[in-house]
Amino acid sequence: MSSRTKVLLGLLAVGVAALLVLARQGDVLVALIIGVVVLLTGRAVFRGYNVTKGPIGPPEDVVESGTLLVFACEVCGEQLVLLRKGTDVPPRHCAEAMVLRRIPTPERGVSPN
Ligand SMILES: [Zn+2]
Repeated sequence: MSSRTKVLLGLLAVGVAALLVLARQGDVLVALIIGVVVLLTGRAVFRGYNVTKGPIGPPEDVVESGTLLVFACEVCGEQLVLLRKGTDVPPRHCAEAMVLRRIPTPERGVSPN
C-alpha cells in the first residue's frame, strides 16, 4: 500500500469518525455505509486493470531457422512477424488475442547447386 493510499484512507477514516460524532441521524450512517461499499467495490474492480502482464525478463531475439513466428488475427487476417520476444502474452487485435503460427520462410536467392 502506497503512502498516498494510506493518507487517503486516514483522511477517509477521520471524516467518517467526525461525521459519526456530529450526526446522530440514521440517514447519514446509511449513506456512509453505501458510500464505503461503493468505494470498496470500485477499488476491487479497477485493481484488476492496474495489474499488467508485463515482461518476464529481458527481451530475447527469436531465432528459428527455416520458419518465421507470426502472430495472426483470426478476425481480420492481419499478421505480425515476431522478431524479439519480451513476454509470453500474445498481442491483441480486433479485441481478440492473436494466434502464434510458424510459417516457413521463403527461399532467399538461388542456391548455386
Ligand atoms: Zn484484427
